[in-house]
Amino acid sequence: MLTIGRCLFCLIIQGKIPSYKVYETEHSYAFLDINPVSEGHTLVIPKHHTVKLGELPDEYLSDIGPAIKKVALATGAEDYNVLQNNGKLAFQHVDHVHFHVIPKPNAKEGLV
Ligand code: 5GP
Ligand code: ZN
Repeated sequence: MLTIGRCLFCLIIQGKIPSYKVYETEHSYAFLDINPVSEGHTLVIPKHHTVKLGELPDEYLSDIGPAIKKVALATGAEDYNVLQNNGKLAFQHVDHVHFHVIPKPNAKEGLV
């Protein structure tokens, strides 16, 4: 596992910057987005620092898939988006691999 001191999400993994933890596995960490698109908007990140998905070792990739699924189901939303941006042109703002899990509020629960 590699973490670096000048990376915001590495500092979150290290507990040096506070976060609201949603779920954690050996190789992955999930926490609420500070600026949520919808209630429950969660970021799922590997505990190993790489900027882009293509650089991520397979052991972290195989761990994060089930973690994303668990988080998506835990939101309780029937519909949701999973987004992952790589590089500035693709609107990546934090240079540590992260998956957005963005629930779409369930209309039947009265949420818009
Ligand atoms: P990106 O635009 O890189 O795909 O997504 C970065 C996400 O990180 C954004 O949705 C932003 O709100 C979130 N974010 C940025 N800084 C922090 C922080 O300090 N804590 C948390 N929990 N989320 C953050
Ligand atoms: Zn990092």
